[in-house]
Amino acid sequence: MEKRIVVLGAGESGCGAAVLAKKLGFDVFVSDFGSIADKYKAMLDAHAIAWEEKQHSEELILNAGEVIKSPGIPNEAPMVVKITEAGIPVISEIEFAGRYTRAKMVCITGSNGKTTTTSLIYHIFREAGLDVGLAGNIGRSLALQVAEGDRDYYIVELSSFQLDNMYEFRANVAVLLNITPDHLDRYGYKMENYVKAKFRILQNQKPEDAFVYWNEDPIITKELPKYTHGRPYPFAEEKQDGVAAYTHEEKLVFTEPVPFNMELEELSLTGKHNLYNSMAAGISANVAGIRKETIREALGSFTGVEHRLEKVAKVNGVEYINDSKATNVNSCWYALQSMKTKTVLILGGKDKGNDYNEIADLVKEKCSALIFLGADNSKLQEFFGTFGLPLYDTHSMQECVEQAYRIARSGETVLLSPCCASFDLFKSYEERGRMFKECVCRL
Ligand code: ADP
Repeated sequence: MEKRIVVLGAGESGCGAAVLAKKLGFDVFVSDFGSIADKYKAMLDAHAIAWEEKQHSEELILNAGEVIKSPGIPNEAPMVVKITEAGIPVISEIEFAGRYTRAKMVCITGSNGKTTTTSLIYHIFREAGLDVGLAGNIGRSLALQVAEGDRDYYIVELSSFQLDNMYEFRANVAVLLNITPDHLDRYGYKMENYVKAKFRILQNQKPEDAFVYWNEDPIITKELPKYTHGRPYPFAEEKQDGVAAYTHEEKLVFTEPVPFNMELEELSLTGKHNLYNSMAAGISANVAGIRKETIREALGSFTGVEHRLEKVAKVNGVEYINDSKATNVNSCWYALQSMKTKTVLILGGKDKGNDYNEIADLVKEKCSALIFLGADNSKLQEFFGTFGLPLYDTHSMQECVEQAYRIARSGETVLLSPCCASFDLFKSYEERGRMFKECVCRL
Protein backbone atom coordinates (compact mmCIF):
# COMPACT_ATOMS: atom_id res chain seq x y z
CA MET A 1 0.00 0.00 0.00
CA GLU A 2 1.24 3.45 -0.78
CA LYS A 3 2.25 5.28 2.36
CA ARG A 4 1.60 9.00 2.72
CA ILE A 5 4.59 11.07 3.79
CA VAL A 6 3.99 14.63 4.93
CA VAL A 7 6.95 16.97 5.12
CA LEU A 8 6.70 19.92 7.52
CA GLY A 9 8.94 22.82 6.54
CA ALA A 10 10.03 23.38 2.95
CA GLY A 11 13.69 24.35 3.34
CA GLU A 12 16.76 22.46 2.21
CA SER A 13 16.13 19.37 4.30
CA GLY A 14 12.35 19.25 3.81
CA CYS A 15 12.48 19.61 0.04
CA GLY A 16 15.28 17.07 -0.21
CA ALA A 17 13.23 14.61 1.84
CA ALA A 18 10.19 15.24 -0.35
CA VAL A 19 12.13 14.56 -3.54
CA LEU A 20 13.56 11.34 -2.13
CA ALA A 21 10.15 10.19 -0.85
CA LYS A 22 8.56 10.91 -4.23
CA LYS A 23 11.28 9.02 -6.03
CA LEU A 24 10.67 6.05 -3.75
CA GLY A 25 7.00 6.07 -4.76
CA PHE A 26 5.41 7.53 -1.63
CA ASP A 27 2.40 9.83 -1.75
CA VAL A 28 4.10 13.09 -0.68
CA PHE A 29 2.76 16.40 0.61
CA VAL A 30 4.81 19.38 1.79
CA SER A 31 3.39 21.98 4.17
CA ASP A 32 5.10 25.15 5.38
CA PHE A 33 3.56 27.63 7.80
CA GLY A 34 5.74 30.41 6.41
CA SER A 35 6.40 31.22 2.78
CA ILE A 36 8.47 28.89 0.62
CA ALA A 37 11.49 30.23 -1.26
CA ASP A 38 11.04 30.32 -5.04
CA LYS A 39 13.89 27.91 -5.65
CA TYR A 40 12.24 25.29 -3.45
CA LYS A 41 8.82 25.83 -5.05
CA ALA A 42 10.46 25.20 -8.40
CA MET A 43 12.13 22.06 -7.06
CA LEU A 44 8.86 20.67 -5.71
CA ASP A 45 6.98 21.54 -8.92
CA ALA A 46 9.66 19.91 -11.05
CA HIS A 47 9.03 16.66 -9.17
CA ALA A 48 5.23 17.05 -9.23
CA ILE A 49 5.10 17.21 -5.43
CA ALA A 50 2.01 18.82 -3.87
CA TRP A 51 2.72 21.68 -1.45
CA GLU A 52 1.12 24.48 0.52
CA GLU A 53 2.56 27.59 2.18
CA LYS A 54 1.48 30.03 4.91
CA GLN A 55 -0.77 27.39 6.44
CA HIS A 56 -1.01 23.83 7.71
CA SER A 57 -4.15 22.07 6.40
CA GLU A 58 -4.92 19.48 9.03
CA GLU A 59 -6.98 17.30 6.70
CA LEU A 60 -3.97 16.96 4.40
CA ILE A 61 -1.51 16.33 7.22
CA LEU A 62 -3.18 14.18 9.85
CA ASN A 63 -3.70 11.37 7.30
CA ALA A 64 0.07 10.84 7.02
CA GLY A 65 1.74 7.51 7.73
CA GLU A 66 4.85 9.37 8.82
CA VAL A 67 5.85 13.03 9.14
CA ILE A 68 9.31 14.36 8.32
CA LYS A 69 9.85 17.54 10.33
CA SER A 70 12.37 20.25 9.62
CA PRO A 71 14.76 20.67 12.56
CA GLY A 72 13.80 24.35 12.77
CA ILE A 73 10.23 23.53 13.89
CA PRO A 74 9.97 22.95 17.64
CA ASN A 75 8.12 19.91 18.98
CA GLU A 76 5.81 22.33 20.81
CA ALA A 77 4.54 23.87 17.55
CA PRO A 78 0.74 23.34 17.56
CA MET A 79 0.76 21.27 14.36
CA VAL A 80 3.50 18.99 15.67
CA VAL A 81 1.58 18.52 18.92
CA LYS A 82 -1.52 17.47 16.94
CA ILE A 83 0.51 15.07 14.80
CA THR A 84 2.04 13.49 17.89
CA GLU A 85 -1.34 13.23 19.59
CA ALA A 86 -2.66 11.47 16.49
CA GLY A 87 0.08 8.86 17.00
CA ILE A 88 1.87 9.66 13.74
CA PRO A 89 5.63 9.11 13.95
CA VAL A 90 7.71 12.28 13.48
CA ILE A 91 11.22 11.79 12.12
CA SER A 92 14.03 13.96 10.79
CA GLU A 93 15.17 14.13 7.19
CA ILE A 94 18.46 12.44 8.14
CA GLU A 95 16.59 9.53 9.74
CA PHE A 96 14.53 9.14 6.58
CA ALA A 97 17.45 9.39 4.16
CA GLY A 98 19.54 7.05 6.33
CA ARG A 99 17.11 4.20 5.53
CA TYR A 100 17.91 4.37 1.82
CA THR A 101 21.67 4.63 1.72
CA ARG A 102 24.40 2.04 2.14
CA ALA A 103 27.07 4.68 2.61
CA LYS A 104 29.23 4.82 5.72
CA MET A 105 28.18 7.74 7.91
CA VAL A 106 30.68 10.01 9.64
CA CYS A 107 28.54 12.21 11.90
CA ILE A 108 29.57 15.28 13.84
CA THR A 109 27.79 16.97 16.71
CA GLY A 110 28.68 19.27 19.61
CA SER A 111 27.76 22.75 20.79
CA ASN A 112 30.54 24.48 18.86
CA GLY A 113 32.81 23.57 15.97
CA LYS A 114 30.43 21.29 14.06
CA THR A 115 30.58 23.05 10.70
CA THR A 116 34.32 23.59 10.87
CA THR A 117 35.03 19.97 11.77
CA THR A 118 32.53 18.58 9.29
CA SER A 119 34.05 20.67 6.48
CA LEU A 120 37.55 19.69 7.52
CA ILE A 121 36.73 15.97 7.54
CA TYR A 122 35.07 16.34 4.13
CA HIS A 123 38.18 18.09 2.83
CA ILE A 124 40.44 15.26 4.03
CA PHE A 125 38.19 12.56 2.54
CA ARG A 126 38.09 14.39 -0.78
CA GLU A 127 41.84 14.86 -0.82
CA ALA A 128 42.07 11.11 -0.26
CA GLY A 129 40.07 10.61 -3.46
CA LEU A 130 37.10 8.97 -1.73
CA ASP A 131 33.53 9.11 -3.05
CA VAL A 132 32.11 11.38 -0.35
CA GLY A 133 29.19 13.75 0.18
CA LEU A 134 28.79 16.63 2.65
CA ALA A 135 25.40 16.84 4.35
CA GLY A 136 23.32 17.63 7.39
CA ASN A 137 23.14 21.19 8.61
CA ILE A 138 25.53 22.15 5.89
CA GLY A 139 25.36 22.31 2.12
CA ARG A 140 22.83 20.11 0.30
CA SER A 141 20.49 17.84 2.16
CA LEU A 142 21.41 14.21 2.68
CA ALA A 143 18.05 13.10 1.27
CA LEU A 144 18.56 14.94 -2.02
CA GLN A 145 22.01 13.44 -2.44
CA VAL A 146 20.69 9.95 -1.73
CA ALA A 147 17.89 10.58 -4.26
CA GLU A 148 20.44 11.57 -6.90
CA GLY A 149 22.69 8.54 -6.45
CA ASP A 150 24.49 7.09 -3.49
CA ARG A 151 28.07 7.60 -2.32
CA ASP A 152 30.54 5.54 -0.29
CA TYR A 153 30.70 8.06 2.58
CA TYR A 154 28.69 10.97 3.88
CA ILE A 155 30.12 13.48 6.33
CA VAL A 156 27.04 14.68 8.22
CA GLU A 157 26.76 17.65 10.56
CA LEU A 158 24.05 16.96 13.15
CA SER A 159 22.44 19.57 15.36
CA SER A 160 20.67 18.55 18.55
CA PHE A 161 17.38 19.33 16.77
CA GLN A 162 18.11 16.78 14.08
CA LEU A 163 19.17 14.21 16.66
CA ASP A 164 15.89 14.76 18.52
CA ASN A 165 13.96 13.01 15.76
CA MET A 166 16.42 10.25 14.95
CA TYR A 167 15.75 6.70 16.09
CA GLU A 168 17.27 3.94 13.93
CA PHE A 169 20.02 5.92 12.23
CA ARG A 170 23.51 4.57 12.81
CA ALA A 171 26.68 6.66 12.83
CA ASN A 172 29.64 4.50 11.78
CA VAL A 173 31.90 7.23 13.08
CA ALA A 174 30.35 9.53 15.69
CA VAL A 175 32.18 12.71 16.68
CA LEU A 176 31.11 14.59 19.83
CA LEU A 177 33.15 17.78 20.07
CA ASN A 178 31.93 19.44 23.26
CA ILE A 179 28.78 20.24 25.21
CA THR A 180 28.09 23.72 26.56
CA PRO A 181 24.72 25.37 27.15
CA ASP A 182 22.99 26.40 23.92
CA HIS A 183 19.44 26.44 22.60
CA LEU A 184 18.10 25.82 26.09
CA ASP A 185 14.90 27.60 25.08
CA ARG A 186 14.12 24.52 22.93
CA TYR A 187 14.86 22.07 25.77
CA GLY A 188 12.53 23.34 28.49
CA TYR A 189 15.52 25.29 29.90
CA LYS A 190 16.89 21.94 31.15
CA MET A 191 20.52 21.29 30.36
CA GLU A 192 20.02 17.55 30.88
CA ASN A 193 17.57 17.41 27.97
CA TYR A 194 20.05 19.12 25.67
CA VAL A 195 22.84 16.80 26.82
CA LYS A 196 20.67 13.75 26.15
CA ALA A 197 19.91 15.02 22.65
CA LYS A 198 23.62 15.28 21.89
CA PHE A 199 24.31 11.75 23.13
CA ARG A 200 21.68 10.40 20.73
CA ILE A 201 24.48 10.41 18.18
CA LEU A 202 25.63 7.18 19.87
CA GLN A 203 22.36 5.30 19.68
CA ASN A 204 22.58 2.25 17.37
CA GLN A 205 26.38 2.27 17.26
CA LYS A 206 27.88 -1.22 17.02
CA PRO A 207 31.15 -2.36 18.57
CA GLU A 208 32.95 -2.05 15.23
CA ASP A 209 31.94 1.62 14.91
CA ALA A 210 34.06 4.49 16.23
CA PHE A 211 33.31 7.18 18.80
CA VAL A 212 35.57 10.23 18.66
CA TYR A 213 35.21 12.72 21.53
CA TRP A 214 36.95 15.43 23.52
CA ASN A 215 38.21 13.80 26.70
CA GLU A 216 38.59 17.10 28.57
CA ASP A 217 34.94 18.11 28.33
CA PRO A 218 33.50 17.71 31.83
CA ILE A 219 29.96 17.00 30.66
CA ILE A 220 30.98 14.40 28.07
CA THR A 221 33.23 12.51 30.47
CA LYS A 222 30.63 12.60 33.25
CA GLU A 223 27.76 11.35 31.11
CA LEU A 224 29.66 8.88 28.95
CA PRO A 225 29.40 5.85 31.28
CA LYS A 226 25.62 5.93 30.82
CA TYR A 227 25.86 5.12 27.12
CA THR A 228 27.02 2.25 24.95
CA HIS A 229 28.99 3.11 21.86
CA GLY A 230 31.54 1.94 19.35
CA ARG A 231 35.26 1.82 19.94
CA PRO A 232 36.32 4.98 21.80
CA TYR A 233 38.85 7.40 20.27
CA PRO A 234 39.19 10.23 22.77
CA PHE A 235 41.41 13.25 22.15
CA ALA A 236 42.95 15.71 24.60
CA GLU A 237 45.38 18.58 24.59
CA GLU A 238 47.69 16.86 27.07
CA LYS A 239 48.84 13.26 26.78
CA GLN A 240 46.58 10.88 28.74
CA ASP A 241 46.20 7.13 28.81
CA GLY A 242 44.35 5.79 25.82
CA VAL A 243 43.87 9.00 23.87
CA ALA A 244 43.97 8.78 20.09
CA ALA A 245 45.40 12.30 19.68
CA TYR A 246 47.21 14.81 21.89
CA THR A 247 49.86 17.51 21.65
CA HIS A 248 53.46 17.22 22.77
CA GLU A 249 56.38 19.61 22.26
CA GLU A 250 54.78 21.60 19.43
CA LYS A 251 53.60 18.41 17.74
CA LEU A 252 50.18 16.93 17.17
CA VAL A 253 50.47 13.22 17.92
CA PHE A 254 48.02 10.62 16.61
CA THR A 255 48.31 7.25 18.32
CA GLU A 256 45.80 4.94 16.64
CA PRO A 257 44.83 3.15 14.51
CA VAL A 258 47.93 4.35 12.63
CA PRO A 259 50.44 6.29 14.75
CA PHE A 260 51.95 9.43 13.22
CA ASN A 261 52.60 13.02 14.11
CA MET A 262 52.86 16.45 12.55
CA GLU A 263 54.09 19.89 13.56
CA LEU A 264 51.38 22.06 15.14
CA GLU A 265 52.67 24.79 12.86
CA GLU A 266 51.58 22.79 9.83
CA LEU A 267 47.89 22.99 10.82
CA SER A 268 46.07 25.47 8.63
CA LEU A 269 43.44 26.37 11.26
CA THR A 270 44.68 28.37 14.22
CA GLY A 271 43.45 28.78 17.80
CA LYS A 272 42.92 26.21 20.50
CA HIS A 273 39.38 25.34 19.44
CA ASN A 274 40.62 24.54 15.97
CA LEU A 275 43.29 22.30 17.42
CA TYR A 276 40.48 20.19 18.88
CA ASN A 277 38.62 20.31 15.58
CA SER A 278 41.76 19.22 13.75
CA MET A 279 42.30 16.34 16.19
CA ALA A 280 38.71 15.14 15.77
CA ALA A 281 39.01 15.35 11.99
CA GLY A 282 42.40 13.65 11.87
CA ILE A 283 41.19 10.75 14.03
CA SER A 284 38.05 10.29 11.91
CA ALA A 285 40.16 10.10 8.78
CA ASN A 286 42.65 7.78 10.45
CA VAL A 287 39.81 5.46 11.51
CA ALA A 288 38.54 5.42 7.92
CA GLY A 289 41.91 4.14 6.78
CA ILE A 290 43.11 7.27 5.01
CA ARG A 291 46.90 7.42 4.60
CA LYS A 292 48.74 9.45 7.20
CA GLU A 293 50.52 11.51 4.51
CA THR A 294 47.15 12.54 3.09
CA ILE A 295 45.76 13.45 6.51
CA ARG A 296 48.80 15.52 7.32
CA GLU A 297 48.68 17.38 4.02
CA ALA A 298 44.94 17.96 4.17
CA LEU A 299 45.07 19.30 7.75
CA GLY A 300 47.57 21.79 6.39
CA SER A 301 45.75 22.80 3.22
CA PHE A 302 42.21 23.41 4.51
CA THR A 303 41.21 27.01 3.89
CA GLY A 304 38.59 27.36 6.63
CA VAL A 305 34.90 28.15 6.57
CA GLU A 306 33.23 31.50 5.93
CA HIS A 307 32.15 33.47 9.05
CA ARG A 308 34.32 31.36 11.41
CA LEU A 309 37.36 33.37 12.44
CA GLU A 310 37.61 34.39 8.80
CA LYS A 311 40.33 36.90 7.99
CA VAL A 312 38.75 39.71 5.99
CA ALA A 313 41.43 42.34 5.35
CA LYS A 314 44.21 44.35 6.89
CA VAL A 315 43.53 48.10 6.79
CA ASN A 316 46.15 50.55 8.08
CA GLY A 317 47.85 47.78 10.03
CA VAL A 318 44.58 46.59 11.64
CA GLU A 319 43.41 43.03 11.01
CA TYR A 320 39.63 42.58 10.59
CA ILE A 321 38.22 39.15 11.46
CA ASN A 322 34.70 37.93 10.78
CA ASP A 323 33.48 35.41 13.37
CA SER A 324 29.80 36.18 12.85
CA LYS A 325 28.96 32.52 13.48
CA ALA A 326 29.94 32.99 17.14
CA THR A 327 26.32 33.14 18.26
CA ASN A 328 26.97 32.04 21.83
CA VAL A 329 29.35 33.14 24.58
CA ASN A 330 31.47 30.00 24.48
CA SER A 331 32.47 30.44 20.85
CA CYS A 332 33.40 34.07 21.50
CA TRP A 333 35.57 32.80 24.38
CA TYR A 334 37.52 30.60 21.96
CA ALA A 335 37.80 33.39 19.43
CA LEU A 336 39.16 35.85 22.01
CA GLN A 337 41.44 33.20 23.40
CA SER A 338 43.04 32.78 19.96
CA MET A 339 43.72 36.53 19.53
CA LYS A 340 47.42 37.34 19.48
CA THR A 341 47.04 41.16 19.59
CA LYS A 342 44.95 43.68 21.47
CA THR A 343 41.42 43.45 20.16
CA VAL A 344 38.48 45.71 19.48
CA LEU A 345 35.62 43.29 20.06
CA ILE A 346 32.27 43.77 18.35
CA LEU A 347 29.45 41.98 20.13
CA GLY A 348 25.70 42.13 20.52
CA GLY A 349 22.49 41.06 18.83
CA LYS A 350 19.67 38.84 19.98
CA ASP A 351 20.67 37.50 23.38
CA LYS A 352 19.59 33.89 24.11
CA GLY A 353 19.95 34.28 27.88
CA ASN A 354 23.73 34.86 27.81
CA ASP A 355 25.97 34.89 30.85
CA TYR A 356 28.92 37.13 29.94
CA ASN A 357 30.92 36.16 33.02
CA GLU A 358 32.48 33.43 30.91
CA ILE A 359 34.37 35.97 28.76
CA ALA A 360 34.92 38.63 31.46
CA ASP A 361 38.57 37.74 32.17
CA LEU A 362 39.50 37.46 28.50
CA VAL A 363 37.82 40.77 27.71
CA LYS A 364 39.87 42.42 30.46
CA GLU A 365 43.06 40.79 29.23
CA LYS A 366 42.72 41.15 25.46
CA CYS A 367 40.33 43.97 24.58
CA SER A 368 41.20 47.63 24.06
CA ALA A 369 37.58 48.62 23.41
CA LEU A 370 34.14 47.10 22.94
CA ILE A 371 31.64 48.02 20.27
CA PHE A 372 28.08 46.91 20.82
CA LEU A 373 26.03 46.15 17.73
CA GLY A 374 22.39 45.45 18.45
CA ALA A 375 18.89 46.84 18.49
CA ASP A 376 19.09 47.00 22.29
CA ASN A 377 22.54 47.11 23.90
CA SER A 378 21.44 47.84 27.44
CA LYS A 379 22.35 44.43 28.92
CA LEU A 380 25.85 44.70 27.45
CA GLN A 381 26.24 48.28 28.70
CA GLU A 382 25.25 47.17 32.15
CA PHE A 383 27.54 44.14 32.27
CA PHE A 384 30.68 45.67 30.75
CA GLY A 385 30.09 49.17 32.10
CA THR A 386 32.38 48.63 35.07
CA PHE A 387 35.34 47.23 33.10
CA GLY A 388 36.99 50.61 32.52
CA LEU A 389 37.12 50.00 28.75
CA PRO A 390 35.90 52.43 26.11
CA LEU A 391 32.40 51.28 25.09
CA TYR A 392 30.55 52.29 21.94
CA ASP A 393 26.90 51.80 21.11
CA THR A 394 26.04 51.18 17.47
CA HIS A 395 22.89 50.05 15.73
CA SER A 396 23.97 49.29 12.16
CA MET A 397 26.91 47.48 10.60
CA GLN A 398 28.11 50.57 8.77
CA GLU A 399 28.15 52.65 11.95
CA CYS A 400 29.87 49.81 13.78
CA VAL A 401 32.68 49.28 11.26
CA GLU A 402 33.28 53.03 10.96
CA GLN A 403 33.56 53.23 14.73
CA ALA A 404 36.03 50.33 14.74
CA TYR A 405 38.07 52.06 12.04
CA ARG A 406 38.26 55.25 14.11
CA ILE A 407 39.45 53.60 17.32
CA ALA A 408 41.58 50.57 16.36
CA ARG A 409 45.30 51.27 16.41
CA SER A 410 47.85 49.76 14.04
CA GLY A 411 48.82 46.28 15.22
CA GLU A 412 45.42 45.61 16.76
CA THR A 413 42.64 43.29 15.60
CA VAL A 414 38.98 44.11 15.07
CA LEU A 415 36.99 40.98 15.84
CA LEU A 416 33.30 40.50 15.09
CA SER A 417 32.41 37.64 17.47
CA PRO A 418 29.00 38.71 18.70
CA CYS A 419 27.98 36.06 21.33
CA CYS A 420 24.43 36.57 20.08
CA ALA A 421 22.05 35.60 17.31
CA SER A 422 21.66 38.12 14.52
CA PHE A 423 17.90 38.39 14.11
CA ASP A 424 17.44 41.80 15.72
CA LEU A 425 19.24 43.63 12.89
CA PHE A 426 19.99 40.98 10.24
CA LYS A 427 18.29 38.08 8.50
CA SER A 428 20.97 35.61 9.53
CA TYR A 429 24.51 35.36 10.84
CA GLU A 430 25.59 34.97 7.21
CA GLU A 431 24.06 38.32 6.28
CA ARG A 432 25.68 39.92 9.33
CA GLY A 433 29.08 38.49 8.34
CA ARG A 434 28.72 39.50 4.69
CA MET A 435 27.75 43.05 5.62
CA PHE A 436 30.73 43.25 7.95
CA LYS A 437 33.02 42.16 5.13
CA GLU A 438 31.46 44.62 2.68
CA CYS A 439 31.83 47.52 5.12
CA VAL A 440 35.44 46.56 5.88
CA CYS A 441 36.29 46.31 2.19
CA ARG A 442 34.88 49.84 1.64
CA LEU A 443 37.15 51.37 4.31
P1 ADP B 1 28.84 25.08 14.83
O1 ADP B 1 28.60 24.53 13.48
O2 ADP B 1 28.86 24.02 15.90
O3 ADP B 1 28.00 26.24 15.19
P2 ADP B 1 31.22 26.35 13.74
O4 ADP B 1 32.26 25.44 13.20
O5 ADP B 1 30.31 27.01 12.81
O6 ADP B 1 30.36 25.58 14.85
O7 ADP B 1 31.94 27.43 14.65
C1 ADP B 1 31.16 28.39 15.33
C2 ADP B 1 32.03 29.22 16.23
O8 ADP B 1 32.41 28.43 17.35
C3 ADP B 1 33.31 29.68 15.57
O9 ADP B 1 33.16 31.00 15.20
C4 ADP B 1 34.39 29.51 16.62
O10 ADP B 1 34.71 30.74 17.23
C5 ADP B 1 33.78 28.60 17.67
N1 ADP B 1 34.35 27.24 17.70
C6 ADP B 1 34.74 26.49 16.65
N2 ADP B 1 35.20 25.28 17.05
C7 ADP B 1 35.07 25.26 18.40
C8 ADP B 1 35.36 24.28 19.42
N3 ADP B 1 35.88 23.08 19.14
N4 ADP B 1 35.10 24.64 20.69
C9 ADP B 1 34.59 25.84 21.00
N5 ADP B 1 34.30 26.80 20.10
C10 ADP B 1 34.53 26.52 18.81
